[in-house]
Amino acid sequence: MGNRAIGAQEKFYKETNMNKDFGKKDFLPIWCEQCNVQGYIFVEDAEIPAFLICKKCGYEASQVWCPTCGMGGDFIKDIKKRPTFWYCSKCRTKYQLPSTFYDNPVTIHPESDLPEGSHIPEISNPKEVT
Ligand SMILES: [Zn+2]
Ligand SMILES: [Zn+2]
Repeated sequence: MGNRAIGAQEKFYKETNMNKDFGKKDFLPIWCEQCNVQGYIFVEDAEIPAFLICKKCGYEASQVWCPTCGMGGDFIKDIKKRPTFWYCSKCRTKYQLPSTFYDNPVTIHPESDLPEGSHIPEISNPKEVT
């Protein structure tokens, strides 16, 4: 299973000209609420907070990680208001966002943009991909 998943990932990187990042970046499934489709993002490290923008519709979301709970997700509320911190919904820990957080948005690629044959939803935890 792991090998097949890596193959799909490699193919995707090649066909999107991101092969230089292959092996260096994690990818995570992100749901675009506006398109109502499954999308994917590519990040250096899933534990670094990321500001996300959907390639198709411009929907804004976040991917942040709470080391206390060991869980991540779209936890930044009212992202349109550009908050400089966020609270974990579970443990209520407050986290400061980097000052450049909104300057470097990460693109959400809708699943429909993935090359045919690279259906990869079985990867729910990038940490399992070695
Ligand atoms: Zn969208
Ligand atoms: Zn937490």
